[in-house]
Amino acid sequence: MGESVQTTYDVIIVGGGPAGLCAALYSGRGMLNALLIERGLPGGELLNTDLIEDYIGFESVKGPELARLMTEHAKKFGAEVVMDTVEAIEQRPNGEFLVTTQLGKEYHAPAVILTAGGTPRKLGVPGEQEYAGRGVSYCAVCDGAFFKGEVLAVIGGGDAAVEEADYLTRYAEKVYIIHRRNELRASQILQDRAFKNPKIEFIWNKVVEEVEGEPRGVTRLKLNDTVSGEHSTLTVGGVFIFIGFTPNSGLIKGHFAHDASGYIVTDNHMMTSIPGLFAAGDLRVQLTRQITTAVGDATTAAIAVEKYLTDRAHQKAAPADEREAVASS
Ligand SMILES: Cc1cc2nc3c(=O)[nH]c(=O)nc-3n(C[C@H](O)[C@H](O)[C@H](O)COP(=O)(O)OP(=O)(O)OC[C@H]3O[C@@H](n4cnc5c(N)ncnc54)[C@H](O)[C@@H]3O)c2cc1C
Repeated sequence: MGESVQTTYDVIIVGGGPAGLCAALYSGRGMLNALLIERGLPGGELLNTDLIEDYIGFESVKGPELARLMTEHAKKFGAEVVMDTVEAIEQRPNGEFLVTTQLGKEYHAPAVILTAGGTPRKLGVPGEQEYAGRGVSYCAVCDGAFFKGEVLAVIGGGDAAVEEADYLTRYAEKVYIIHRRNELRASQILQDRAFKNPKIEFIWNKVVEEVEGEPRGVTRLKLNDTVSGEHSTLTVGGVFIFIGFTPNSGLIKGHFAHDASGYIVTDNHMMTSIPGLFAAGDLRVQLTRQITTAVGDATTAAIAVEKYLTDRAHQKAAPADEREAVASS
């Protein structure tokens, strides 16, 4: 990774997680002149993941190892990767994009694939970071199977918390849902399911003050009652935190279609409501957020970019009267 001298590309990919790396691979194979801009080391959330056991073809692989393999593979097909933080993606009146970065660079391309992921909201309590990956998790589908027969805590009261707690009861002996209020925000159907699940017990009006453990992982939570102020402890083998996820969609300047939480709405080609701007992976509105869905989105996006650029070139080359006919058809 280094200084980029060139500033104009066919496509700029923002973010180098699984989605960005896969988009770079497909763009390279499609003979597009592609630039991938990543603010840190490529790999995205894979770098924060210990073991991955649900990426097809890899029975068990360490996150950083998969990140390394994906990066090498993407680079093999000619992807140019620079380390910089994108600050803004803006469409100019001619339809091209201007991508500006923290290092003061300005890159141009007729298409951008945004794969900047998002960040699970943290509790911000002692022990949370220390035990991340050793009992503290933000993804039930990813980590649930590592907790067979354990007693777990789920933090939160919205749809994600209640749905994921229900999912975790497939593996766990018991799941406590700890919520800071005495009622849930989750939809009624999810609440009803959770209340009927004999493995789920609710702990109301409590917040986590500290995550405690020993070298092998989490052993208990220190809780504080939001009404009485009383302190207590709860013995658990793991804690799953679902208090929100912030998609990194704020880089887009100008209006774009998104849901109430800021996730980007796309069509089946992964194109956003801004023509030429594509989105793939965790920051897109979708049912689940996994490595497989991120790379699937990215594959579609990169191939859709090729088609978009070809159509654009044809339109530019067509005589004015033909363009008018296409526009009015
Ligand atoms: C702890 C944990 C464990 C997980 N375990 C699994 C698992 O076992 N199996 C599974 O399938 N999924 C798992 N997931 C989910 C999976 O990691 C994500 O779905 C996947 O990484 C999404 O890929 P992405 O490329 O969309 O986003 P990310 O992986 O989040 O990558 C986004 C990238 O964009 C970069 N970026 C962000 N903003 C900017 C900017 N302004 N400029 C430049 N770069 C930027 C980031 O640095 C990051 O590298 C796990 C997630 C977590 C948090």
